[in-house]
Amino acid sequence: MKNALKGYFESFGVEFYAVLSYSDCREINPGIMSREDFTPRSVILYLLPYYTGETVNISRYAASLDYHLALRECADGLISALRELRPDVHAKGYGDHSPIDEVGAALRAGLGIIGDNGLIINEKYGSYVFIGDVITDVPPEELGAVLPREVEHCLHCGSCKRACPTGSLRGEESDCLSAITQRKGELTAAEADLMRKYNTAWGCDLCQSSCPYNREPMVTPIEFFHRDRIPYLTRGLLDAMDKPAFLKRAFAWRGRKTVERNLDIVNNN
Ligand code: SF4
Ligand code: SF4
Repeated sequence: MKNALKGYFESFGVEFYAVLSYSDCREINPGIMSREDFTPRSVILYLLPYYTGETVNISRYAASLDYHLALRECADGLISALRELRPDVHAKGYGDHSPIDEVGAALRAGLGIIGDNGLIINEKYGSYVFIGDVITDVPPEELGAVLPREVEHCLHCGSCKRACPTGSLRGEESDCLSAITQRKGELTAAEADLMRKYNTAWGCDLCQSSCPYNREPMVTPIEFFHRDRIPYLTRGLLDAMDKPAFLKRAFAWRGRKTVERNLDIVNNN
């Protein structure tokens, strides 16, 4: 089983993964797990690095196709690889919405340290990583589970807090700029001004790009993130996307109208 994990992750381009016992993870959404028809025993945690280069007016993660599709592709392939060895394996892949605290588990599995920007920071890919997890009923020792480690912290250099344009990372009572761009409905004049000032039609990367751990970001070897990349989103590109194409983008989840509004704001100087 351990070799199957290693071989599969190598073929997908995943360099950082680890296994924890389910009991060593903090369960935060027991309702999700209770809908499954197996008893969770082990959690395979992995990082998908996503940096593909710089972008103009959208967050770096959103230049690629929706990362949830990559997480699903990776998890489905992994589960198939495990079932080739043991057809009776029960397993389910998650990413973003998991029964467990994914960031906490990935930290305790040794996949990175925690930054003051709230993100996991990996030794090679910095914070430009997504966390995926596959929960299985395989005994943890069969998958080479590690013992949970103490969580390590970043340098506390303060760069991310200084760079934060809204002050939300400094604990000020303001919304994160990324959240503003993802909010439906009308924005205030001040919010629109911020989007224009930082030229963002989707997301905000300032607490990542300012971090010394991200100074020389490594480009991801994972082919998925290089497909159909859009580093500069324009109204023309958006209008040319039919519904299936739009729904494959990371910026689709708040609907087309939200992205149209954002582009109108940033283009209306
Ligand atoms: S994403 Fe931008 S606005 Fe949000 S916390 Fe980070 S720097 Fe601040
Ligand atoms: S910018 Fe500094 S304080 Fe912020 S996460 Fe990076 S190392 Fe930590």
